[in-house]
Amino acid sequence: MPSSDFIVIGAGVIGLAVARELKRQYAWASVRVLEKEAEPGRHSSGRNSGVLHSGIYYAPGSLKAELCRKGRAEMAAYHAAHHLPLNRCGKILVPTSPKDAPQLENLYRRAHENGVRAEKLDEATLRELEPAARSATGEALWVPDTAVGTPGEVLKTLTQEVRALGVEVCCRAEVAKIDAATRKITLRHGEALTFGYAVNAAGLHSDRIAHEFGMGQDYALLPFKGLYWKLSEEAGIRLNHLIYPVPDARTLTLGVHTTTATDGTIYLGPTAVPAFGREHYRGLESVRLPEAARMTRDLARMFLHDRDGYRQQAWLEGRRYFRRWFFEAVRELLPAVKPEHLLPAAKVGLHPRLFDRKSGALLKDFIILKNSHSLHILGATSPAWTSAFPFARHVCEKMDSPVTRRFSDPPSHDPNQGASSS
Ligand SMILES: Cc1cc2nc3c(=O)[nH]c(=O)nc-3n(C[C@H](O)[C@H](O)[C@H](O)COP(=O)(O)OP(=O)(O)OC[C@H]3O[C@@H](n4cnc5c(N)ncnc54)[C@H](O)[C@@H]3O)c2cc1C
Repeated sequence: MPSSDFIVIGAGVIGLAVARELKRQYAWASVRVLEKEAEPGRHSSGRNSGVLHSGIYYAPGSLKAELCRKGRAEMAAYHAAHHLPLNRCGKILVPTSPKDAPQLENLYRRAHENGVRAEKLDEATLRELEPAARSATGEALWVPDTAVGTPGEVLKTLTQEVRALGVEVCCRAEVAKIDAATRKITLRHGEALTFGYAVNAAGLHSDRIAHEFGMGQDYALLPFKGLYWKLSEEAGIRLNHLIYPVPDARTLTLGVHTTTATDGTIYLGPTAVPAFGREHYRGLESVRLPEAARMTRDLARMFLHDRDGYRQQAWLEGRRYFRRWFFEAVRELLPAVKPEHLLPAAKVGLHPRLFDRKSGALLKDFIILKNSHSLHILGATSPAWTSAFPFARHVCEKMDSPVTRRFSDPPSHDPNQGASSS
């Protein structure tokens, strides 16, 4: 039976970045990445906006704030080192209602607390920098260090890089069954493997994998669909920056915004509409009745208790599934856009939000759970793409000194003991 010192489940940007870090830190060790799809990056890592976020939104002291600030610089440097296209355009946040004025102030303060450059703009300067954008108060916030990169190219380059380092990236290798006590993984097609230490970076499936290890039973993922539209050239709108609304402080969504990709296409979105399957991209794809029922129950519970302003979010985001309401959100930012300027975009992604069954709320930070022989990355939503490289280092630091153990040895104690989180 093949055996590896480290097994990483999932070849998204996080799994690949972790594999690279493991090989850097433990050059002697064998590292194998198991990916269920035919190639890396078929899910969130290949379907996102590609924005290198600055880190202004996240609570000071949170893992998201720390990793995003470091990650943005490292991801930009990675693009430069590998000659990948990067649009260093910066972004402008505009209030879409006079009620957003205090939140603009909060974000300005938070930017400074998080060590992110941000400057307030008055009405005249906003008009000069971004004539097509509208601010409900006249004020805006300019964040120069936001950029747009190329996730697909990063994934390809990273895959080549880890393979060159000696990592085995195995595609069409879906993890179907895990026996944590004997450290044995059985793949969907029947092959079995053993491991010394496993890292779960399975994105939309990471809670299920964690449960197989007997970890994180209080958590379940809820997918939210990110739909995009494209802005037609007929609109005649030129944007020099990304334009974002000032988001509702209580919710986890950034609101419908513009993203100018490196090829010049202007994307509008994404939404965060509830989905009912882990890969529910279109139609009823991947919707399974028992799980859809569980997701509906969890969503209903949040709605009932109105956790973190969820009722308002459900109302606003739910409507944006429909073109008419999506258009309303766009028009709040860019008043000159007309309904016919919205073109369908093939891009659609799913945000895996982590639901805490105990508190009945969605968690805001990244969650890492571990025990003596496994580590689980849960809720790696935005800005995890931006943060991937420092995130991978953080993950390796959190492991319980795996280098001191020989993984070929049988486990010496209860694998479910010593679980901890951050
Ligand atoms: C619409 C949208 C827009 C976003 N925009 C941004 C942005 O602009 N900036 C930013 O920083 N972040 C953004 N994000 C977030 C970012 O894309 C994700 O946080 C990041 O890609 C997560 O990477 P991952 O490796 O954890 O997950 P994934 O990329 O989903 O990788 C997980 C992998 O695990 C594999 N897998 C699952 N189960 C198994 C199994 N049983 N066996 C083997 N393999 C398995 C999957 O096939 C998948 O390839 C966005 C996300 C979405 C959905």
